[in-house]
Amino acid sequence: MEIKKFLWVAGLCCACHGVYAAPVEFASPDKKLVVTVTDDGGKPVYKVAYDGVVFVENSPLGLRTDLGDWTQGLSLADSAFKTKTVEVDYTLRTIKQSHVEKQATLAVCPFYKDGKKVWDAEFYVSAHDVAFRYRVYPQGDRLCTVVKEEATGFVFPEGTTTFLCPQSKPMGGFARTSPSYETSYKTDEAMGKNGWGEGYSFPCLFRTGDKGWVLISETGVDSRYCASRLLGGKGSLYAIGFPQEGEFNGNGTTAPGLMLPGETPWRTISVGATLAPITETTVAFDVVEPQYEPSRPYVYGRGTWSWIIGGDASMNYDEQKRYIDFAADMGYESVLVDAWWDSRVGYKRMEELARYAASKGVGLYLWYNSNGYWNDAPQGPRGRLDRTPVRRREMAWMRDAGIRGIKVDFIGSDKQETMRLYEDILCDANDYGLLVIFHGCTLPRGWERMYPNFVASEAVLASENMHFSQGSCDAEAFNATLHPFIRNTVGSMDFGGSTLNHYYNAKDEPRGSRRVTSDVFALATAVMFQSAVQHFAMTPGNLETAPGWAIDFMKKVPTTWDEVRFIDGYPGRYAVMARRHGDTWYVVGVNAQEETAELEVELPMFAAGETVACYEDDEKLQGRQTTRRVGKDGKVKLSIPKNGGVVLVGE
Ligand code: CA
Repeated sequence: MEIKKFLWVAGLCCACHGVYAAPVEFASPDKKLVVTVTDDGGKPVYKVAYDGVVFVENSPLGLRTDLGDWTQGLSLADSAFKTKTVEVDYTLRTIKQSHVEKQATLAVCPFYKDGKKVWDAEFYVSAHDVAFRYRVYPQGDRLCTVVKEEATGFVFPEGTTTFLCPQSKPMGGFARTSPSYETSYKTDEAMGKNGWGEGYSFPCLFRTGDKGWVLISETGVDSRYCASRLLGGKGSLYAIGFPQEGEFNGNGTTAPGLMLPGETPWRTISVGATLAPITETTVAFDVVEPQYEPSRPYVYGRGTWSWIIGGDASMNYDEQKRYIDFAADMGYESVLVDAWWDSRVGYKRMEELARYAASKGVGLYLWYNSNGYWNDAPQGPRGRLDRTPVRRREMAWMRDAGIRGIKVDFIGSDKQETMRLYEDILCDANDYGLLVIFHGCTLPRGWERMYPNFVASEAVLASENMHFSQGSCDAEAFNATLHPFIRNTVGSMDFGGSTLNHYYNAKDEPRGSRRVTSDVFALATAVMFQSAVQHFAMTPGNLETAPGWAIDFMKKVPTTWDEVRFIDGYPGRYAVMARRHGDTWYVVGVNAQEETAELEVELPMFAAGETVACYEDDEKLQGRQTTRRVGKDGKVKLSIPKNGGVVLVGE
């Protein structure tokens, strides 16, 4: 973060090492979000309250390391406690809000054991977000440590319910590629479970009865630590868990190593009486810093890809050329060339294809297998990105061929060794001017800001599952009502959806899995799902078969956004949100409930009495384009049938 004010305010109490200190309390600049830290009987705890309501009860802090157990027998040096106000101010085209400007409180809570400083808890508190991390200190001549376990946890008030997706066991799923953050959410569940036995994937959403919502996540993870999961199963306590032993085929440790002094990643807590602060949070990006400068001005935008409808059979020169023509007809910026291109198109003809695409103003993304010695995924190209010398040679070829970016797949694991691989791929790709999308992967944790050529990750049950199964098609609307409030709140999501085909096959014949959502739903999710690069599941045939208004909308839809607003919704039921691109607001909604959602929403982004463009469904999911006049009270009535959508676009 850009820190412009350096005035630390020190604690007022006297030093009292060995004696437990009085709690320290600090708050967001508007004083509404309050954090309390204390060394309760030698065990450090923190508490989070908003507007007088406790959202996270006294919850454990601390680390067990090879240098000592720093979870108990600790004392808070309240005399050395200090706070300051910082200003956060940055511009980032690849997240939900292009410019972020806010104030936050930074607080440092130093903890001692046996008279020696072991770690500080550093807290960042803005209007609706708390982030905290440990700053760990050298012990004598020990300048590195292994963190064996964290005590870090989150205790929720009684009656809190959960909206979580389970972490997979390692080396399961397709070709032993899990965990890859591709599991189903359960909504409105009681506390005290532990997923499939291995906890939950971030981000994790909790509902504090009718008091509000809490989102727990993690950010600032790079090669200096592992990524974590959230372990449940102990009543109302959810604790930070390290990766599983078997991940990455057992290679690499589960316990991260840390240079001293050194910091752990930030753990984040977003709190709101409604879902607005969670939908709109930028905390994942506020507390991290760019790791390097972009090597060039990167180009974002829309594209198509043949694989999602046509599958592996579509991987040939002629079909890829047809998709390039289609992208050009749509005015799109790119085409994603998926798996097996190395053997079915070949490197020489790929250079031709890239030249052809460039002549039409279209850039190419190339799919790559990440492995390597960590899973059995057979798709080519393999063995090209797993180690530095080969990777850099491959990327030099891509630069010379004018390739725009890469989609790196099957890179599931949260170990520190895997974080190093992610970081190495990103750094090298930037050297060669390539954008990076990850699939079959972990959640990005602040990476849009940390690595300027990072675009998006899958880390969700994405469109491919609808290609594979009718069950996923049937659950499409249910899942869409979750993502604006959970997965997509903390990181760009490469979903690859918005198909206008009726069936997931190239001829759009009635076989295989069938889309049950409406055309307007496809338009709505093109706005709802945020990623600066979107490869939509559209086909050349859609130009003839889809309604003209749907094609025209998809030609114009932006992928970069200046602002986001929560309008209405409940995860698993329905979602209505707004995004602004330049001066134009898009209000979009989808519904997963059996009953038609009849809503009256306030839309302050539109002027009272203003006429806006409208796309809506009738009860049979037949879409139409019309106009809508905003009421004199600034309200609009929306009617969204099950599996349907609505889109309003201002002038
Ligand atoms: Ca996948």
